[in-house]
Amino acid sequence: MKYVSTRGNSPPLEFDQTTLAGLAPDGGLYVPEFWPSLSSEALEDLAARSYEEVASAVMAPFVGRAFAPGELERLIHEAYQAFGHAIRCPLVQLTPNLFLQELFHGPTLAFKDLALQLVGRMFDRFLTRSGQRVTIIGATSGDTGSAAIEAFKGLSSVDVFILFPHGRVSDIQRRQMTTTRAGNVHAIAVEADFDACQTLVKAMFNDHKFRREFGLAAVNSINWARILAQIVYYVFAGVALGAPRRSPVFVVPTGNFGDVYAGYAARRLGLPISQLVVATNQNDILDRVLRTGRYRMRNVIQSMSPSMDIQISSNFERVLFDAYERDGQAIAALMGQVADGGFEITPGARSWLSRYFAADSCSEQETGLEIRRTNLETGRLICPHTAVGVAVGRRVAKETSGPVVALATAHPAKFPDAVQEWSDRWPRLPQSMAGIMDAPERVLRIAPRLEDIQSIIRAESNI
Ligand SMILES: *Cc1c(COP(=O)(O)O)cnc(C)c1O
Repeated sequence: MKYVSTRGNSPPLEFDQTTLAGLAPDGGLYVPEFWPSLSSEALEDLAARSYEEVASAVMAPFVGRAFAPGELERLIHEAYQAFGHAIRCPLVQLTPNLFLQELFHGPTLAFKDLALQLVGRMFDRFLTRSGQRVTIIGATSGDTGSAAIEAFKGLSSVDVFILFPHGRVSDIQRRQMTTTRAGNVHAIAVEADFDACQTLVKAMFNDHKFRREFGLAAVNSINWARILAQIVYYVFAGVALGAPRRSPVFVVPTGNFGDVYAGYAARRLGLPISQLVVATNQNDILDRVLRTGRYRMRNVIQSMSPSMDIQISSNFERVLFDAYERDGQAIAALMGQVADGGFEITPGARSWLSRYFAADSCSEQETGLEIRRTNLETGRLICPHTAVGVAVGRRVAKETSGPVVALATAHPAKFPDAVQEWSDRWPRLPQSMAGIMDAPERVLRIAPRLEDIQSIIRAESNI
């Protein structure tokens, strides 16, 4: 399997090179050259399998010859071993036809672990084999940074620098980034907001000399390997609920379109999914573009679901590529308009998108009331991102008799203040995290200046 760029102007790459590259040189995102297919018989066979077995069956056609026989299976096994639930991604029933899929049993309590625990091990495998080193840099609003640090800590082939907005991540998120003792990991508090952190990271990637010298690599959700690992839990839930004979609706709280794009990929593989519902908070650019065909940026409004406070939804480009019949030039032209505030998609592409996706958004009030209602009706605490999905999921579940699965993207204890405010209960951290509130923190605090962050990387990198 080879991977091609959505902007049509980069040479196709094998899986291992795609993983290490992140973004394509023409600015596009990598997607598989074609969609492989899982037959109905193959899906039936997966119904009785473990998460790890489903993972290797789903991923095998995508990785080509990037791994020696048995190697992918070994990495998958190691990646999910430390998860705090034997099922890995269990389904919980909330109402007769509304289910939650819990994706937060990994080491940093958000669904990002499902991808990054595996992608970290893939990076290490590919780099050790070729004798390369890389410097991973990333900006985070909280969850990606902690999951990346947890996944890459202690690996000899990488240094990791994570920029986060000082004072704007939760205590747990910050401590997950600042309390590891691994020498290859550096958490950097930037005295600015998330967008400024993101701008610094982009500036470093655009400094080509610096980029080459330090072998910069990215592990944000534009990395194809992350999407690939996320396809697995859709298939796992689908077969548990009766696929291929039944086809569930998935409701996905999303901002960057990464998670829901993985659901789309599962459907292209052959998993029957009757609809993918994009659930956004008040930053509703995805809801608006799917309803109106107009992609228009507005200012980001801070919400209680900060991991979805996004106006530039990177992964949407991947699905547009298919909606435009894989016309890379057309996508490059659309993306060129983003800097000027947005673009409008063609009626043909719009009707194509509506075959796969629906969308809905949720106000802060509705999100809070859903945290309260779920607690009162089921005794469960849910995080604010999950609450966006459950609130939208309830609306969908009323209109169908089939199963509706809302993805639970983070553990409630990661966002305790919002959960407490609306449920009057303080969500307790799992036993595995006991001690994090007392561990010593190690963090560098800087002003948002490119020279300062680059000199930190020069001083601390092992390249
Ligand atoms: C990252 C994140 C999301 C949004 O994920 P996308 O990649 O934008 O789809 C939702 N909820 C939580 C808890 C997250 O950490």
